[in-house]
Formats: sequence, structure tokens, C-alpha cells
Amino acid sequence: MLYSQKNLTEYTGDDMGEIINVTRSSMPEFEEYCAEIRDIFESRWLTNMGVKHQALQKELENYLGIEHVTLFTNGHLALETALTAMDLPQGGEVITTPFTFASTTHAITRCGLVPVFCDVNDRDYTIDVTKIEALITEKTVAIVPVHVYGNMCDVEALQDIAERHHLKLVYDAAHTFGVRYKGKSPACFGDAAMFSFHATKVFHTIEGGAVCYHNDDLVQLLNDLKNFGIRGPEEVAYVGGNAKMNEFQAAMGLCNLRHLEEEIEKRRLADERYRERLEGISGIRLCAPQKDVRPNYAYFPVIFEDGYKYDRDTVFARLKEENIIARKYFYPLTNSFACYKDLPTAGTEKTPVAQYAATHVLTLPLFAGLSQEDVDRICDLILN
Ligand SMILES: *Cc1c(COP(=O)(O)O)cnc(C)c1O
Repeated sequence: MLYSQKNLTEYTGDDMGEIINVTRSSMPEFEEYCAEIRDIFESRWLTNMGVKHQALQKELENYLGIEHVTLFTNGHLALETALTAMDLPQGGEVITTPFTFASTTHAITRCGLVPVFCDVNDRDYTIDVTKIEALITEKTVAIVPVHVYGNMCDVEALQDIAERHHLKLVYDAAHTFGVRYKGKSPACFGDAAMFSFHATKVFHTIEGGAVCYHNDDLVQLLNDLKNFGIRGPEEVAYVGGNAKMNEFQAAMGLCNLRHLEEEIEKRRLADERYRERLEGISGIRLCAPQKDVRPNYAYFPVIFEDGYKYDRDTVFARLKEENIIARKYFYPLTNSFACYKDLPTAGTEKTPVAQYAATHVLTLPLFAGLSQEDVDRICDLILN
């Protein structure tokens, strides 16, 4: 996200023609958003769980088919607060993957927990469930898997491991809004699941996020934790922070939710065209559609294998010359970050599948409204 913004400004004033960015935020009609925020101007209730916040929460509970949704000002604080709510012992170890956005590993660490890096599988780049149990020690307290690119983790195997070892299971589901697995939303799995509603995600509230869960006991706790731990007018129960979603964010969410299915359908068309052009090309590997999954077409990752005629960085640079901004997503791995170099499981050599993906992958531009002509132009550049 940040990188693409930076690329945008780099090109400002250039006459090389239109930039195709890796993503483009979906927007409702201007008039639709204005109509949605009119009552906020009248009531002057701008934040603190107002009517828009309440309405969006209800609609999301229905859409996701989950008992509880707690809204947050962003996905990162949603994940941090979900982990805080699990009440895990300080210094506890949390098994996670390094093939993710910085946020996942940071959230674990900022909660006083220790990330333990597990490799990913080479089919969909989610956590390799066959490698988890070897990493479990007497200090392990939780697993934080990531449904990366909108690909679902092996939720059954993860549930089984978590239950057998009495571990909390908190999903980073930031990429999966709109996905269905066997008819269920990703909100339904684990002790909690976090969605990000950042402007670059398939569904957004400008900035925003949510924690989804079944457990009734978490409702009050999460609502208190996102509001300074304040339980009542004269009672502060927890050392909370401030992570509330405001009314203008919620209003954007109410608008965008009305158009979600159209949005996903438009993304599907671009995805389909990419697959027509790139499937079966020797040296190019795509993520295969997953069994029992209705995708959300959030990203279009492509692996440029060692055998392909151009390496990943060459393709990246060539596209950039043509004002097409792809993204090395996720590169570098979080287990190579300077801030994690002292962790016992740091080092990319310990997660070779993730390291291969990180050094060979590009996510190509994908958003609602990306034209077939643009997809063709991108594919022509990659292939020739
Ligand atoms: C976007 C994202 C987050 C963080 O969400 P924000 O809403 O930007 O705070 C966390 N994890 C992953 C995998 C993400 O892509």
C-alpha cells in the first residue's frame, strides 16, 4: 500500500501516460456517500459507537454469519486487541508465518508475545500444517495463521492441532473478506478472526477493521479494550487503548457493502483474463483455485520460477518502465526484519518455501474495473 502510494508520487508530472497501480480503492458514488453521512451532520455524533457504527456491525454480523463482530479503527489494532483479549501469558510463544504483512508479526510482539516462524506450503502459501507440531513447546500459547492472498488456511487441521495442544487460534483474515469456504465465511473459524477494512482491501471503510468470534464473553471485553478500558461512566476495568471506528468510516462501509458482490464479480473478470493468458506457461506458476472455496479475487500472485526466461525483479522493472506498478508482496519476509533478528526462529533459511515465494513472486495489478485491454498489455509485457 505504502509502496504503491510512493510510486504514484514518483511519477507525478511524468508524461508517460496513465499509471496502472497494483490496486485502486473501490468507491461508492459521491452522492451515495453524501446521503449516508447526512444524519451524522445533523446529529453531530461523530464517533463512540453511534448509529452508523451500530448499523455496520449488524450488517456485517449478518453478512459474515457470525454471532459477534467488534469494529475497530484499523485491522492492525483489531488483531492486537483480539490477542490481548485472549489473556495469554507474557513471553508466550505464538506460531505464525513470516510470509505476511508486517502487521501480523508486529501485533504478536506488541502484545508481549514471541513470534515463532513456521514455513508455508507451496500450493497456496498459507501455514504448512505439517510443520506446526515440531515447533510447539511448553511455552506455546497460540497460533496466528494468515489466509494469505485470500487463500484459506487448512482450517480443519488447525482447529485439530489447537484443540489437542490447548492453544488459542486467532486468524489474520485481512485478505479474505467476501471469501466463502464450504458456504461459511472466514469469520467463523478459530477463537477469533481479524479482517482489515483498509482502503486497499476488497471491502473497505477507508481505514478500519473487525474482530469476529462466537464467544459471548468477549463482547464486553473487546468493546472496553478499544475504548480505554472504560466499562461505565465511573468504572475503568482494563488497561485499554483507543481503537474505535468512527461514524464516517462506518458510513463508507455501509455504502461499500451494498456494492461488494459487483466488486467481486468485476475482479473475477480480470482474474479470469489473467488466467487465460498466463496459465500453462512454462516457468510461470499461479495459485490454483482452492477446493470448496468461493474466492474474493483480492490479489493475483504470480511466481516467476528459476526456469522462466526473466526473473521476478526483471519483470518488475520492465512493468515499471511502462507505468505498471506490480508489488513484491510479500518481500521481504518478516523473519528477516532487523527488529526480529534476535528471535530464536529468525532467519529466512529456516522457512525455505516462504523465502522462495518472497523472492520469486509478484502480485499483478488487480481491482474492479481493470480492463481486459490492460490485463492483456500487462501479460504481453510479461511474456515478451
Ligand atoms: C492489511 C493487512 C493488515 C493490517 O490491516 P490494517 O487495516 O492496514 O491495519 C494485517 N495483516 C495483513 C495480512 C494485511 O494485509
